[in-house]
Amino acid sequence: MSERLTRARTVVVKIGSSTLVDAATGSLSAGWLQAFAADVARARARGQDVVVVSSGAIALGRRRLGLAAGALKLEEAQAAAAVGQIELARAWSEALAGHGLTVAQILLTLGDTENRRRYLNARSTLKTLLGMGSIPVINENDTVATAEIRFGDNDRLAARVAGMIEADVLVLLSDIDGLYTANPRTNPQARFIPEVHAITPEIESMAGQAGSDMGSGGMATKIMAARIAMEAGTHMVIANSATPSPLSAIEQGGRCTWFLAPHSPAALRKRWIAGTLSPAGALVIDEGAAGALGQGRSLLPAGVARVEGAFERGDCVIVRDMNGREIARGLVAYGADDARRICRARSAEIEALLGHRGRDEMIHRDDLVLLKG
Ligand code: GLU
Repeated sequence: MSERLTRARTVVVKIGSSTLVDAATGSLSAGWLQAFAADVARARARGQDVVVVSSGAIALGRRRLGLAAGALKLEEAQAAAAVGQIELARAWSEALAGHGLTVAQILLTLGDTENRRRYLNARSTLKTLLGMGSIPVINENDTVATAEIRFGDNDRLAARVAGMIEADVLVLLSDIDGLYTANPRTNPQARFIPEVHAITPEIESMAGQAGSDMGSGGMATKIMAARIAMEAGTHMVIANSATPSPLSAIEQGGRCTWFLAPHSPAALRKRWIAGTLSPAGALVIDEGAAGALGQGRSLLPAGVARVEGAFERGDCVIVRDMNGREIARGLVAYGADDARRICRARSAEIEALLGHRGRDEMIHRDDLVLLKG
């Protein structure tokens, strides 16, 4: 069980306000953060990409602003987030700098994860940062999110982020060690559930409506997050943050609940590509490129003889051979105009032709599905 975490290439870890901010004093739990930073550094040393989704801005800010306990009005929460986010980002930056790791702050709104262009941009920034070995630390952009269009809880935000970057595992660190058949704090009959394979109505009914002054997520939002993650092919695990090294604890078989996605993100992506009903255009490729594709390689601009249709970067296109036979489908890395400019060119010439450096491949092999037969 522990290997699910150690083998993951990309891991997203969500940390709640009640873990990071001391309820009594409203100040940052610096000791916890330090120990957790060591956990992150260990994962990086193994070659894993790590993204942190951190709550705590509102909890930190409300203390600074001297706001009274209890529920905040939206504008108060937004003001508190504006103040607290500075402190939160600095704390992460300092904790991880101690391990030679660079932190990048990213504030996302719900719209950033739903609007296609913004989604693609956020994804590409995240992937670029990970490629550079940085640790993105993400929070909701609470200061601008309006009541109707905000996540409001970082559980679902973290699940969307995990899907966006095709993470293998999403870890939700919580003040509880996993899912129980009922609330174990009030019901002594509550049974622990170590593994969930599908979000059934029964599983949903196990999640009460718990929440606290500090954060917004209860078990109900965690189950919603599990559904989002599993649909994206990401396994999710709920574990207790009380231990100073929660990731190590999961690795060592500590108690936690796994929500297991039936398909990997890569398999889902390929299925989606293969099933696209109306591809936006086509690339006609030469014999050499067709041979390369058959061997599982990417499609390079040099192998593209002709570009048909109007499509944008990231759209699904048909790949045809010179005889007009459809041989593959894939997500193209260039819009139609740019694709026309660089077809037949070597990858090294792309920059000179377009004025900026794009991907070497017209369609990367991870984004390509060969049609059988
Ligand atoms: N974005 C909020 C904050 O940083 C927390 C949301 C949540 O509790 O999940 O304070």
